[in-house]
Amino acid sequence: MGVLLAEPISALEPGINAMRDPVTAYIGLGANLGDARAAILQAIQAIADIDGLMLTRQSSLYATAPVDSSGPDYINAVVEVRTRLKALQLLARLQSIELLAGRQRPYRNAPRTLDLDILLFGNARIDKPDLTVPHPRMAQRAFVLLPLAEIAPQSVTAGQLQAVQGQAIRKL
Ligand code: ADP
Ligand code: MG
Repeated sequence: MGVLLAEPISALEPGINAMRDPVTAYIGLGANLGDARAAILQAIQAIADIDGLMLTRQSSLYATAPVDSSGPDYINAVVEVRTRLKALQLLARLQSIELLAGRQRPYRNAPRTLDLDILLFGNARIDKPDLTVPHPRMAQRAFVLLPLAEIAPQSVTAGQLQAVQGQAIRKL
């Protein structure tokens, strides 16, 4: 028994460190190919199913015309999670969900079945080759700021919302 207690719980659950405090993170979802609405709802479920994570809030769905991209309207949403995963571990889990959704990247900013971005990860500032947090382009995008403001008003300033006022977006 004593031996068991001495074992870190992370040994039983690879990738999850139960000793680490959970972090509140925000994930932006976007899709514009096929049934984009279904893709977003499935992705939210897939995120909720990640081990070591709890889905705590989810925004409404929003429809926007593509920015720097082509194809039909995007469907976007933002979810809040509480997790003990590290940011890079969370990114890897999100990328597997993107792959499972059949995402292909023939060229930069191509329309995609599913795009999952880490917008915020607690108060972390991350500048790694594979991961920049806060997401560098989030402040320019109404389709990120509006759903984020809906579930985490403290994370979005009035000035930021004003700056994206001109972008067409509708809440579904
Ligand atoms: P974008 O989401 O900027 O339109 P992509 O999804 O095609 O473009 O970019 C994917 C790459 O972005 C991934 O290889 C990932 O390593 C990198 N990346 C950097 N920062 C983040 C972040 N905060 N969230 C998700 N991916 C990120
Ligand atoms: Mg992305």
